[in-house]
Amino acid sequence: MTAILTPALLPEVADFVSRDRQLLIGGAWVDAASGEKFETVDPATGEVITRVAKGTAEDIDRAVAAARAAYEGPWSRMKPNERERLIWKVGDILSERAEIFGQLEALDNGKSVAIATAVDVGWSADVWRYNAGLATKIKGSSITPSMPFAPDGQFHAYTRRESLGVCGQIIPWNFPILMATWKLAPALAAGNTVVLKPAEQTPLSALLLGEVFEEAGFPPGVVNIVTGFGDAGAALSAHMDVDKVAFTGSTEVGKKIVQAATGNLKKVTLELGGKSPNIVYADADLEAAVAGSVAAWMFNHGQCCVAGTRMFVQREIFDDFTQAVADAAAAAKIGPGLDPTTELGPLVSQEQFDRVNGYIQQGLASGARALTGGNRWGDRGYFIEPTVFVDVEPHYSIVEEEIFGPVVAALPFDDEEDVARAANNSIYGLAAGIWTKDLSKAHRTAAAVQAGSVWVNQYNGFDTALPFGGFKQSGWGRELGDSAIDAYTQVKSVNIAL
Ligand code: NAD
Repeated sequence: MTAILTPALLPEVADFVSRDRQLLIGGAWVDAASGEKFETVDPATGEVITRVAKGTAEDIDRAVAAARAAYEGPWSRMKPNERERLIWKVGDILSERAEIFGQLEALDNGKSVAIATAVDVGWSADVWRYNAGLATKIKGSSITPSMPFAPDGQFHAYTRRESLGVCGQIIPWNFPILMATWKLAPALAAGNTVVLKPAEQTPLSALLLGEVFEEAGFPPGVVNIVTGFGDAGAALSAHMDVDKVAFTGSTEVGKKIVQAATGNLKKVTLELGGKSPNIVYADADLEAAVAGSVAAWMFNHGQCCVAGTRMFVQREIFDDFTQAVADAAAAAKIGPGLDPTTELGPLVSQEQFDRVNGYIQQGLASGARALTGGNRWGDRGYFIEPTVFVDVEPHYSIVEEEIFGPVVAALPFDDEEDVARAANNSIYGLAAGIWTKDLSKAHRTAAAVQAGSVWVNQYNGFDTALPFGGFKQSGWGRELGDSAIDAYTQVKSVNIAL
């Protein structure tokens, strides 16, 4: 059995978790109206880290009122370049305190502290700065009207790109600070105010980020943070004074958000689940393809909406390739996220552990063969061995459904057409990986797969400037790039008779 040694917390992190945490409403840290709190747990040990205010509909009401007042008050009068400076400052503070944010994230989520610091926090800082730059570049265009019945040259018309107002943002637990950033930074750059509802499993990094806004100089009420459960998220998405709701999480909850939004027909963007294909042709650089294909489904312990969990391998290399992937996965060092040498940490919660384990048992029961894994790891915390399934059929739940754990199903294919058809046989369409040295085949396959992001000879090829979002039931709208600004603005046409 493996002993889990947890390194000491940084003094700033130890101090932050030494007190119960409150909600941020109108620039003040306050208890939930009900006075209730909930515990947030270290997934490596199952032990309580601290207690957090349990916000409900009443707190959402208070936060929306504060966001409305800030929107109509100082925030609407602020010049874009002043917004730019504030948003840039958040990026700078995140960079300065990357280790503190990284350790808090690793503690609350279970992910590797090295990854949390470099990727989750480092990339967040980049996203804040990118959006700071966009604040001054939101513009309309001038158009010459030419209606057949109108007199010539008598009109001047232009468009304005305007903010939406108060935005509700509901985020998941798999990349807490990064998902908060993807949503907050463009919303603020575009001149909106926000009520953010972090996931109940991982509320801490968003609350630490809440302290940064005051320090950076944001007016009170521009960013409000209400921690709580699904009922708080439901109240936010149904709220009649919220102009837009942005959600990342399960497709199941995404559909509920769409229904809740109908009351005032608020704008909705959704980043939902996936079951992404990762296609390996026989002519690929196989060493790179093995490493990349392991990362495709093991990164963040498989808790990625884009995880490449349907691994399609060309038949002539299927046995050798899947064995190499299984060997590489089995060699990964499992441990708590706070240990910087950990490669595979625990799942985020008991619930996720049970869910992932349930899928593994279903896979085994239906006749799939685990080349590696299939078991719990250790005797405490929510660890699962990385698991590679072969001998699977397309209708197995491990092939069709999002598992959100370190589990991949490998399927053989014969040719390009065969694999495009199989890859597209899914309700989802978030991402796809393609491995080949044949550039023409790569382009043909990239065009054929139904996915919002396609990565060739790499996986997880994200970039701050590249739009990200889903085809089919993987979502509505795009985040990142300047597409995110489109998602937080609306266009007004002005036509003036001269
Ligand atoms: P979830 O979709 O239930 O939760 C995501 C967020 O939505 C949380 O903040 C939650 O409090 C909130 N929420 C829950 N019910 C709500 C409602 N009715 N109205 C508004 N907000 C609500 O995800 P989960 O239960 O934490 O995980 C379940 C599964 O969802 C996972 O196993 C995984 O398959 C999927 N998931 C996907 C992503 C992603 O990035 N696409 C992220 C997390 C989870």
